Amino acid sequence: MKKDLSAKLLHTGDAKYAKKIAGMVSSPETMPIYQTSVFAFNNIADVDAIYEKETDGYIYSRIASPNADAVSEILAAADGGEKALVFASGMAAITTAILSFVQSGDHIIASPVLYGGVQDFLANELPRFGIEATFADLLDGNISDYIKPNTKLVYTETICNPLMEVPDLETLAGNARENGLTLLVDNTFATPVVANPLSLGADAVLYSATKYLGGHSDIMAGAVISSAGIIERVRRLQVLYGGILSPHDCWLLARSLRTLDLRMKRHSENALETAKFLDAHPKIERVFYPGLASSPSHERAARQFEKGLFGGMLSVDLKGGEGAARRIIQAFETIFLVPSLAGTATTVSWSAKTSHRFYDREERLRSGITDGQLRFSIGLEDARDIIAELSAALEAV
Ligand code: PLP
Repeated sequence: MKKDLSAKLLHTGDAKYAKKIAGMVSSPETMPIYQTSVFAFNNIADVDAIYEKETDGYIYSRIASPNADAVSEILAAADGGEKALVFASGMAAITTAILSFVQSGDHIIASPVLYGGVQDFLANELPRFGIEATFADLLDGNISDYIKPNTKLVYTETICNPLMEVPDLETLAGNARENGLTLLVDNTFATPVVANPLSLGADAVLYSATKYLGGHSDIMAGAVISSAGIIERVRRLQVLYGGILSPHDCWLLARSLRTLDLRMKRHSENALETAKFLDAHPKIERVFYPGLASSPSHERAARQFEKGLFGGMLSVDLKGGEGAARRIIQAFETIFLVPSLAGTATTVSWSAKTSHRFYDREERLRSGITDGQLRFSIGLEDARDIIAELSAALEAV
């Protein structure tokens, strides 16, 4: 039958070609991007078989997609979990994970210093659903004072943002387990290269993959890694809330993960050298970095971070406070003010004005997040270049 041009444009290539490639003896060395929202079938029996889990196959990309499955496999392996899920952002991963475990009437125990968005969600959004949170110092892993009959969840970060405090996750996990509570750990600042919360007893690990896992400041993404049972529970909510990661961003994340180990080693080594330099500098009041022997978190970090790496993030209080912070930012040549972290280059952020902007000021100050405190994301440059730029900028303060 002779076809019109529009039919030719619509019915050639694409789906049929993809099928042809799948049947060939050679396959792509790297994962192709399956940029498709939906999958095509020849009969309804195959759709039934997938829904009934009688055969493998994809139906609709919000439910499952090849690139999401491929990158999830890397993430699960890296963290030592059975399964993983990827999300459109860290907040999508974290809020979906939390909501998978709690319902109206439940109570959550959380660290007092967390990523601002998560703190806001726990303190101001969850109460709308009848879920309350207590913010408590969890550093020594003790929770007995905060447990209520309706407590269900304990939430912390491996390296707490922005003071770089490290809780005793092993003790925390033991106490959570003893009391029948689920422990969720945001491992964004540490990554599986620095710390493995699952091996320390956490029930699930959460990430803003926008940060080190992505590592190049070019994608927004999130991840949850856990046992197959927990992931099934989180997956149900992910499908309903819809915060999935696009095939292209899954592909970019997978590509980034290939170099995570190398990058984190370099970030961590550079950060330790930079922290030592800043710690000895007369214009610096205080350095927050768990790799420094003087850090109150050093013993816990050294015990739990088996590779002796402490991550690429550090914060500083400058002598001269807010005014000094403004001046040093202007004096930098290549260290840009970037209200995020974990890109390839060294950047600086201002916690009180960005990530922790919406904290109550008094509460923020009580937690140790001062008005002029700067947070550095130490990059992949040669450490000597980072230190030279910091040294020159400090001269100008
Ligand atoms: N957790 C931590 C520790 C973060 O720093 C951030 C963002 O800065 C988030 C979670 C939220 O992730 P996203 O911005 O990818 O939604």
